[in-house]
Amino acid sequence: MRTLRFDIVSIFPGMFESPFGDSIIHRAREKGLLDIRVHDLRDFSLNKHRKVDDTPFGGGVGMVMNVEPIARALETIKKEVPKARTILLSPGGKPFNQEKAGQLAEEESLVLICGRYEGIDERVRLHFADEEISIGDYILTGGEIPAMVLVETVSRLIPGVLGDSESIVEESFTGGVLEYPQYTRPRDFKGFKVPDVLVSGDPKKIRAWQKAEALKKTENVRPDLFEKIKRDN
Ligand code: SAM
Repeated sequence: MRTLRFDIVSIFPGMFESPFGDSIIHRAREKGLLDIRVHDLRDFSLNKHRKVDDTPFGGGVGMVMNVEPIARALETIKKEVPKARTILLSPGGKPFNQEKAGQLAEEESLVLICGRYEGIDERVRLHFADEEISIGDYILTGGEIPAMVLVETVSRLIPGVLGDSESIVEESFTGGVLEYPQYTRPRDFKGFKVPDVLVSGDPKKIRAWQKAEALKKTENVRPDLFEKIKRDN
């Protein structure tokens, strides 16, 4: 059994209590598969008001997070986990995806820096972070939700985190396609019926239907993924 450690640096540590205190993440923490520590960035401020931001050089609206408290937080964390990979969450980063999650799941320890306001002093990215990751082409108010997305996506790839009934093998993006449609009881809901093939009892036919539906859905919804599958095969 191995443990993946996350150290999260944020000015809103309380935001993580419920998402990491319930369900799969909670269970994985109890089992010792995940070690998640949330650090209040303000604890590393040298300012008597625990300030961690300032106005931008060169002018412009909003505030920018200072490099110093972040550097001090990283210094403290790295004393315990010197090999930790440091990730800056930012809309300007490389897009996060399932492949990236798989790579991060191989690490022993990850440090996640959550920005706020107009963002973070560029020197954090240049000199203190190993990489910059975006969870999508849109702007959130802070890096806390992106950090939660990353923790959850990476954690479910750690052996033992998901129960036997929760398989990652057939999920969307595994193998580059979206998942085929799923149905459960009742077979007929107000005239909306489950496809006959799924209740045929013929595993070969069911598998063929699932494959064809997965490809059809991918072609319709994600032509970019579909083209990639065509190129790779
Ligand atoms: N001014 C910045 C820009 O235009 O790129 C946006 C700053 S945003 C309001 C504040 C913080 O939220 C960022 O520093 C980052 O940590 C986080 N954030 C917002 N959108 C994000 C995204 N799509 N992916 C990752 N982090 C994001």
